[in-house]
Amino acid sequence: QAITLPEVGSGAPTDAASYRGVWAFAEWRHGRVHAVSYELLSAARRLADKKGVSCAAVLLGENLRDRASELLRYGADVVYVVDHPALRHFTDEAYSRCLVELVRRHKPEILLAGATSIGRSFIPRVAAMLQTGLTADCTDLDISDEGLLLQTRPAFGGNVMATIICPYGRPQMATVRPRVMRPVLDPRNGRVESVTLPEEVFRTRVQVLQVIPEEDTTAKLSEAEVIISGGRGLQKAENFRMVEELARLFKGAVGASRSVVEEGWVPVSHQVGQTGQTVSPTLYMAIGISGAIQHIVGMQGSKIVVAVNKDPEAPIFDVASCGVVADLFEFVPAFIERIRRG
Ligand code: FAD
Repeated sequence: QAITLPEVGSGAPTDAASYRGVWAFAEWRHGRVHAVSYELLSAARRLADKKGVSCAAVLLGENLRDRASELLRYGADVVYVVDHPALRHFTDEAYSRCLVELVRRHKPEILLAGATSIGRSFIPRVAAMLQTGLTADCTDLDISDEGLLLQTRPAFGGNVMATIICPYGRPQMATVRPRVMRPVLDPRNGRVESVTLPEEVFRTRVQVLQVIPEEDTTAKLSEAEVIISGGRGLQKAENFRMVEELARLFKGAVGASRSVVEEGWVPVSHQVGQTGQTVSPTLYMAIGISGAIQHIVGMQGSKIVVAVNKDPEAPIFDVASCGVVADLFEFVPAFIERIRRG
């Protein structure tokens, strides 16, 4: 059932009808376009086609060279590029002012961004500056019969999937987690448009002195083709080494339920689920994980799910392509041994 948000008071633009088109904010990180940009753009293209309007991407950064044209291959009619030294590193102030300025000039009806650390940081600020609504962490997007953006996301601790509309504010804004949408190649003879903005837009009180890259286990998990995940059924940290060993043998990444993270057996960067990462590998193996809805929402996009649990009624079996009802302390060592033998 759709939930209608209250009117945004004075923020609702009087010229809402003049807002047209669907935009995807493309993320520029460490000299390349982040994968989530292509996923969002494909979603934006689908929504734009449904509404019969144009689809654009926005890319902010420095020395973007010809990288913006890559976005044209994923359905953009136009890619707006702002290339400026002040955008070399992400800062909330410069990014939000740039995006707000672009929105005020072009008036897109819908604006999508990734629910990444960057998107989560500055997109709420953009929504506030534009006095419009924002639905964070959407897992599905569609267009209603009235032409409004239907924004679906887990709510009430993941117990319901709420579909939210924002009938008054413009643009209608949503963030989407990485790997929830699929990138689709769809070249359309689009164009790249370099935009020059007034210098005051780039003024910021924040100066980035140094960027120290941290060991990126997070990226490894969200990009892995194979994930071996362990849950509380493993009973203690030492037993979790079996999961790590299996992941090594499969050349995959290690995932975990929140219970395991709370026990301190693995860092939070391994957590899969509503308050962890959304993953969609080819193979997801869940060992000693019950399959609570908050875990399922983070891994249900996996192609093949193999679940090992001693309880045949465990909800994880509802989403499993292959279920092993067994004591994991018997099954997993035997499985590891079998793989090692080749
Ligand atoms: P349990 O539910 O305790 O399940 C352990 C499983 O192991 C059981 O099914 C049991 O049958 C099996 N088992 C036990 N011994 C063996 C054995 N010897 N052999 C085989 N199987 C065995 N959870 C997440 O994972 N990710 C999230 O992002 C997340 N976000 C949350 C957000 C909110 C707001 C809330 C309220 C909860 C969230 N949770 C999240 C927690 C979630 O509700 C569950 O509590 C959690 O996923 C359970 O973890 P688990 O499956 O490892 O443990």
